[in-house]
Amino acid sequence: MKLPGTPYKDVDLKEGRIPYVEDKPDAKYRFSAGIAMSRFLEELKNGRIMGLKCLNCGRIYVPPRTFCSYCFKPTSEWVQVKDTGIVNTAVVSYIAADRGRMDKPLVVAVIELDGASPGMGILHKLGNVDPEDVKNGKIFGKRVRAVWRPEEERTGSITDILYFEPMEGD
Ligand SMILES: [Zn+2]
Repeated sequence: MKLPGTPYKDVDLKEGRIPYVEDKPDAKYRFSAGIAMSRFLEELKNGRIMGLKCLNCGRIYVPPRTFCSYCFKPTSEWVQVKDTGIVNTAVVSYIAADRGRMDKPLVVAVIELDGASPGMGILHKLGNVDPEDVKNGKIFGKRVRAVWRPEEERTGSITDILYFEPMEGD
């Protein structure tokens, strides 16, 4: 399907087809992900997905949160959850990082991991999935597993997990 309008790409910016002001401030900065998210990201290097548990109600938050939004009490116990789970929701995206239209779409999903409380989900890509199965709803509720980047290439980023893929026999 051809959408109306004129798509543009990074090359259009580089070659001056789109006017903009190039400014390179000499700014140095660090970004803190916060106590909970920092540990979560750090543990991904070890191939572990960590959540925080509320000791009052038992809910396990993944991604971790420092307080329970049901009890308004701090969460205090770290727990490891599995790198398998179910697809809560998914969408087919044709928009690339440079805002151009992709011929081969990306499937993005919310995955409820085994061990986390129901309704908790992480946003990630799905691989080895037919986009038609998203459109017709077959992907919803499917069991998936994380496909990890090789250990020596991990950086403590959510992209240490390359994508989630459907589990065999499901
Ligand atoms: Zn709670």
